[in-house]
Amino acid sequence: MSKKTKYIFVTGGVVSSLGKGISASSIGLLLKKRGMKVASIKSDPYLNVDPGTMNPFQHGEVYVTDDGSETDLDLGHYERFLDQSLGKDHNVTTGQIYNTVITRERRGDYLGATVQVIPHITEEIKNRIKRFERSDEPPDVTIVEIGGTVGDIESLPFLEAIRQMGQEEGPQGAMFVHVTLVPYIRSAGEYKTKPTQHSVSELRAIGIQPNVLICRSAKPLSDSLRQKISLFCSVPPSNVISAEDAATIYAVPLGFHAQELDDIICTHFGWELDPPDLTEWETMVEKITNPQKRIKIGICGKYVNLKDAYKSIIEAFVHAGVYSGAEVDLVWVSSEDIKHYGAEKFLHDIDGLLIPGGFGERGVEGKIESIRYVREKNIPFFGICLGMQCAVIEFARNECDLPDAHSYEFYRELKHPVIHLMADQEGVTELGGTMRLGAYPCRLAPGTKSMEAYGEENISERHRHRYELNNAYRQKLTEKGLMIAGVSPDEHLVEIVEVPEHRWFVGVQFHPELKSRPTRPHPLFREFVKAAVEYNQERTGEKAAQDVAAGLSKSSG
Ligand code: GLN
Repeated sequence: MSKKTKYIFVTGGVVSSLGKGISASSIGLLLKKRGMKVASIKSDPYLNVDPGTMNPFQHGEVYVTDDGSETDLDLGHYERFLDQSLGKDHNVTTGQIYNTVITRERRGDYLGATVQVIPHITEEIKNRIKRFERSDEPPDVTIVEIGGTVGDIESLPFLEAIRQMGQEEGPQGAMFVHVTLVPYIRSAGEYKTKPTQHSVSELRAIGIQPNVLICRSAKPLSDSLRQKISLFCSVPPSNVISAEDAATIYAVPLGFHAQELDDIICTHFGWELDPPDLTEWETMVEKITNPQKRIKIGICGKYVNLKDAYKSIIEAFVHAGVYSGAEVDLVWVSSEDIKHYGAEKFLHDIDGLLIPGGFGERGVEGKIESIRYVREKNIPFFGICLGMQCAVIEFARNECDLPDAHSYEFYRELKHPVIHLMADQEGVTELGGTMRLGAYPCRLAPGTKSMEAYGEENISERHRHRYELNNAYRQKLTEKGLMIAGVSPDEHLVEIVEVPEHRWFVGVQFHPELKSRPTRPHPLFREFVKAAVEYNQERTGEKAAQDVAAGLSKSSG
C-alpha cells in the first residue's frame, strides 16, 4: 500500500528563541515512540547557503552531520530526540533555494518566463519539503520547522509555501503548530495573551489557521487563560498546549504527552496507534532532575559568553551526567583571562577540563596554559579538535623541548609546526563547505583509554577541520610519552592522542559531542565524566581528611 506522507509545520511567533526546535523534536519523539517513521526539516530564512561560514557569535554552533553538511544547531536537537542520523536534505536555507532557482534560470530552464518568488521560489521550497515523500521508504510524517518569527520579511516565502501545501494536502494531510509566548507582566501581576493573539492574526493574514498552539510561559497556563486563547485564536482549548519553563529540555515531550498532544495529532491525521512507551525517556529525565552528586568541569574557549556556540557539548555533558548520576556544572573560563592571570586562579577547584573546537589564534595561549596546568596536576582532560591540537602543542613545548611549537593555522613561518595543514587542503581558497567534513572511520589502538571507552576497534566520528598533527613530529612526541590512540585506516592522520600515565588525558581530532544521545551518552564523554567524578571523590575525600586532621591537631593543641 503506498503511503502518503503527512506534514506538520511548526512556526513561531512573538519572539525568537522560544524553543521551536525543541517543540518540533518533542513532537517527533512522541510520534516515533508511537511507531511512526518521522522525518524532520529545518528551514532557515537567511541567504547563506549553509551556516558553515557564519560566526558562532551570531548563529550558534554549526552542527555537522554524517554526510558532511554544515547545518543549523536545531538538527542537533532533532538527532538527539529522534536518535536518528540526518543529512543535507534536512536543512533548507533561502540561500540554497535561490542558488538552485538562479542556476536554472541561467541554464534557460524557465523557457523565457519571468522568474518570481511566487511561484518559482515557493515551488522550490515545496519541492525540498516533499523530497522525503519521493524516497523509496517515505516517512509517515515530515515535521517542518520554519526558522524565524512570523512577521519577518525573509520568512514570508516559506510561510507562503506551507500555506499552499496546507491547501494541496488538505485538512487531513497537514497540520499547523504555532509556538508563541505568553509573557508575565510583573507590574500587572498577570500573564498576557495579546502577543499570542496578534501573532495568530498575523498568521491568519497570510492564510494559515493554526491547529495547535504551544504557549511558552514561566508557569503552566491556567484554565481561564487557555479558554481565552482558544476563543480569540479559534483553536479548541484542548489544542492550546502549555509549555512552561522546564528543568530540562528532555522533560518537554513528557509535558506534551501529559496534555495529549500526540493524541490530538493522531486524531487529526486519522491514525489509530498504540500509546508511546516513554519509560526509558522518563527514567532519563528523572535522573537529570535528581542528580546524586555534582562535579565541576572547566571549559576554556573563545565564546564563553555564548552558550549556543557549544550547544552539543553542553548536551553531551547532560547525557554523560545521567550515566554517572551526576550533575555536571560547567564553569566557563575565558582563555584570555587564563593568559593574563594564570590557570591556578580559575582551575584550582575543577574536576576536569574540556577545551572545545575553534578557529583563529585568539585565546590559544590561554588554552595551552590551562592544558599544561591540568596535565601536570593530573586533572582529567578532554580536548576536542582545536582542543586536541592545543594539547599536542603544549606537549611538544613542555615535554619535547620544542618551546616554539605551534600550529600552522596561526603562523606560516614556524620552526616547529607540530600542527600542519592537511595535504588536501593546500590551494583551497573557498571557505564554504571545504573543510574535512563529516563521518570518517578511525582505528583505535589496543590498551588505550579510548579503546576501553568504545569497546571496539573501528569507530566512525564526525569531523570539521583543516589542520592535523604533523606526522614529521609523531616519533618525537611518542618517544616523550604522548600516545597515538587512534588513526585513520591508512594511518596517515592522527585522530586521537592520549597521555597514558595521566589519569584521563584524551584529545580527539573529531567532534564526539555530535553523536551523543540522551539515552546513549558518547563513550568518551561518559568516561571523561566518570573520571572527573572519581577525581572529585578523591579530591574532596582528601580535603575532608585534611580538615579532620587539621581539626584534630587543633583540639589536641
Ligand atoms: N581550526 C582547527 C582546524 O581547522 C580546528 C577546527 C575545529 O576545532 N573544529 O583544524
